Amino acid sequence: MNLILGLFIFLFGASIGSFLNVLIDRLPQERKITGRSVCDYCQHQLAWYDLIPIFSFFLLKGHCRYCRKKISFQYPLVEILTGLMFIFVFLTYVKNIQEISLWQKWLVILSLWGIISCFIVIFFSDAKYHLISDYILWALFGFSFFLKLFYQSTEIMKQVENDIFSSLIVAFPIWLIYFLSKEKAMGLGDVYLAAILGFLLGWQKGFLALYLAFVLGGITGFFLILFGRKKLKSKIAFGPFLVIGALVMFFLGEGILQWVMRIYGL
Ligand SMILES: [Zn+2]
Repeated sequence: MNLILGLFIFLFGASIGSFLNVLIDRLPQERKITGRSVCDYCQHQLAWYDLIPIFSFFLLKGHCRYCRKKISFQYPLVEILTGLMFIFVFLTYVKNIQEISLWQKWLVILSLWGIISCFIVIFFSDAKYHLISDYILWALFGFSFFLKLFYQSTEIMKQVENDIFSSLIVAFPIWLIYFLSKEKAMGLGDVYLAAILGFLLGWQKGFLALYLAFVLGGITGFFLILFGRKKLKSKIAFGPFLVIGALVMFFLGEGILQWVMRIYGL
């Protein structure tokens, strides 16, 4: 890849990441997403030069210009992560899809960037506030739909029944836990997220994403309790694990699926 193009995509991703930080904190609190950013502590309005993705954080050495309190590391982390993921998606998909035209390729990449952005918002806002906003679930569904539309435009109408089936069957185990635990173990947001993952990944990869999420969630919960960070009864958000499971299955799913089928002799 051309270095200038790579840098441009990274900076574009980082700027989107800056906006994702706004969504992560404002959507769960139902605050307006327009309006100027303020410091989390002193509420001082931030100037444009305080808001340059990544650079401002390091220029200010991680402290607010006005009250000198520490700025959360979430801000540069999300910006860097988004930039890197945008490059990763570009590199993975620009070569892999050859049978479609250039403008169609860009629509696919834009949809993928949208999906990644939604995943990042869900990951951080669920981990931080134990809440997945309906807006971001709708956005994730929209981008997933566009991806299918631009990627397999001729087959999309034939696929509808399959997609509905996959959504329902992948959401079912999560709904069951939600229902039996009376909303304690899973929220409705997790149920909807699982349904969208079924739509996006298909039922086989969708189930494997669930499986990965349970394994990762179990291991993480075990260590958090072991090191006294959480009590046995305290809640650990499940959304972040669903996101990791989905990302793994999205990018490595074909290989994993074939490996699993070989093990079971299918
Ligand atoms: Zn401040």
